[in-house]
Amino acid sequence: MRSIIFIVFLCTCLGVTAQKTIAIKCGKLLDTRTGSIKTKQVIYVKGSTIVSVGGEMKADTTIDLSDAFVMPGMIDCHTHVLLQGDITSEDYDVQLLKESIPYRTIRAVKSCYQSLMNGFTTIRDLGTEGAGYADVDLKRAIENGEMAGPRLFVSTLAINTTGHYPIKSLEYAWELKMPKGVQEITGADEARRAVRQQLEAGADWIKIYADRGYYRLEDGSFRSLPNFTTEEISAIGDETTRSRKRLAAHAMTRDGIIAAINAGASTIEHGSGMDEECMKLMASKGIYWCPTLFVNAYVAEGRAKLGSPINLQFQQSIESTFKKAIGMGVKLAYGTDIGGYDWKLPQAKDFEYFVQWGLDPIKAIQTATTTAADLLDKRGKIGEIIPGAFADIIAMKMDPTKDIKALQEISWVMKGGVVWKSK
Ligand SMILES: [Zn+2]
Repeated sequence: MRSIIFIVFLCTCLGVTAQKTIAIKCGKLLDTRTGSIKTKQVIYVKGSTIVSVGGEMKADTTIDLSDAFVMPGMIDCHTHVLLQGDITSEDYDVQLLKESIPYRTIRAVKSCYQSLMNGFTTIRDLGTEGAGYADVDLKRAIENGEMAGPRLFVSTLAINTTGHYPIKSLEYAWELKMPKGVQEITGADEARRAVRQQLEAGADWIKIYADRGYYRLEDGSFRSLPNFTTEEISAIGDETTRSRKRLAAHAMTRDGIIAAINAGASTIEHGSGMDEECMKLMASKGIYWCPTLFVNAYVAEGRAKLGSPINLQFQQSIESTFKKAIGMGVKLAYGTDIGGYDWKLPQAKDFEYFVQWGLDPIKAIQTATTTAADLLDKRGKIGEIIPGAFADIIAMKMDPTKDIKALQEISWVMKGGVVWKSK
C-alpha cells in the first residue's frame, strides 16, 4: 500500500497524469510539407501533442471532422494585438492618448481571442506601439491558461531613432511630452541598451523601423530616409544576434532594406518599394519577406486623401514587385499587420492577393504554415500535422486549395490539444 501511495506521489510530482487520447477523423487532410491532400486520415492527439497520423490507435474520444478540410493552425508573422486599426495618424494618436495601457491590454485580450477564432494559432506580434511590455503579459497569461489566444512571439517596444516615430510633437503643443510608439535611441550605446532592456523584459524578437519619408524618383524607383546611422543599426544587430535572438525590420525601400540586412535582419516587413538588388540580396541570404498586402491596400486611399499619395503609388506597383520577388526566389512569409487594420476585418485576406498574383494555393498556405514555422525556428512543432508537433489544428467546410477564401471561414480550432472553436 505504501509503495502504491509513493508511486502516485512520484507521478504527481513529475507531472505524469493519465492523458486522454483524442482521435480526429478528417475528411481531407493537408500535408503542408509536401502539399499532398489525403482522405480518410485520423489524427491522434495526447495532451497538447500530436502522437500519430494515419495509423490506428485506441482513443478515449473521437472528434468527427469527416465532412471538413483539415490542416495545421495558421501562423501570422506580423500582428499588433495592442492596436485596433490606425488608418489615419489621428486613429493612432487617440489610442495612445486616450486609452490607458490596462485598457489597451483588455482590448488586446479580445484581439488574441479573435486571432484564435480566425484559425491563427501562432502569431509574431511586432511591437506594442506605446503599450510597454503588455505583450509579455499577454503571452504569459495565454501560456498560463488565464485567457484564450494563439502562441505568442513578442517583440515588446520596437526601436527607432529620436524624433522619427509618432506621436510627433510637431502636431501638438511643443511643450507637451508626447507618448511614443517605440523606444527611441540616439547613438550606438543607447541602441545596445534598448536591445538589452527589451530582451531582459522578455522580447523574443527585436523589431526596428529602418526607414521613413518614402519618396519616388522620376525613373519610378522608390527611396526613403534611413532612420539609423550605420553604428546604431549595427549595434542593434550585433546585440540581438549575440543573444541568439533575431531582428525584424520594417523597411520599405532599398535605403532601409539593405541597411537592415547588413545589420543582420532575418525578416523584412512590408518592403513595398524594394528593387531587384534587394530581392537578389534577400534570396541569396534566405531573408524572409512579410509583404502585408491587404493593409497596404486598405490604408492607401485614406492616406492619399490626407495628402500622402506614396501609399497609393506603392499600391500601383506592388503586384509586379511581388511577382518579380517570388520569381527571384525571395522567401515569402505570411504577415498581415492586423491591428494596423481593424481586428474585425479578415486576417486571412493576404492569401487572396498571393493566389490572384499567381502563387499556387498550396504555396500560399505554406507561407502561413511550414515557412512561417521555419521563420520562427519552430520547424516540426507548428505549421505541420506530424507526430511530435503541437496539436494546433484547424478545419473548414470548403477546400482552400480550390478556393483560397475558405481560409476566412474557419469552423473548428484546436490549439495545444484543446478545442477552442466548434461550429
Ligand atoms: Zn506593423
